[in-house]
Amino acid sequence: MPEPSVTPAPPTRRERWYAEGLRFTCTQCGNCCTGPPGYVWFSPREAEAMAEYLEMDVKTFLKTHARPVSGHWTLDERRTEHGYDCIFLKRDEQGRALCGIYPVRPTQCRTWPFWPENLASARRWRQVARNCPGVALGLEGQGRFYPLEQIRIIRDNTPGDPSPDPD
Ligand code: SF4
Repeated sequence: MPEPSVTPAPPTRRERWYAEGLRFTCTQCGNCCTGPPGYVWFSPREAEAMAEYLEMDVKTFLKTHARPVSGHWTLDERRTEHGYDCIFLKRDEQGRALCGIYPVRPTQCRTWPFWPENLASARRWRQVARNCPGVALGLEGQGRFYPLEQIRIIRDNTPGDPSPDPD
């Protein structure tokens, strides 16, 4: 018997500008893993996965690779010539960014750049492209194609941002 087909929901008003999908391919520039001080939030389950990947217990992982902010945990940063690098950001000899915990990186990293705030408007997406060559590539019609349905799944999987209000 043929599989029942599911008709995707039509784009909402806010989705209209990317109803035909978007293109993006990471160029491994590392911009999204450095820059001004920031936060890479993670859940207790993600802490367990990262600790296991690094072959340490969660308590040691939190002590050596993370810090608590406003009741949530964020990965540590390291000051480098590029800015505040994520503690797990490494660069190869060609300067390409490599994630030291790529298979178990937090959802916040997995869902970039399809965060709700980045998708708020075409204008916002173009602003993101200024700092993310992977998005800029997409604006030129290059890179991997993401249809609306896939963007929705990634977007809706983005964790909320518990960043403290700036002073
Ligand atoms: S800024 Fe964009 S292109 Fe650069 S590493 Fe991050 S996702 Fe990839």
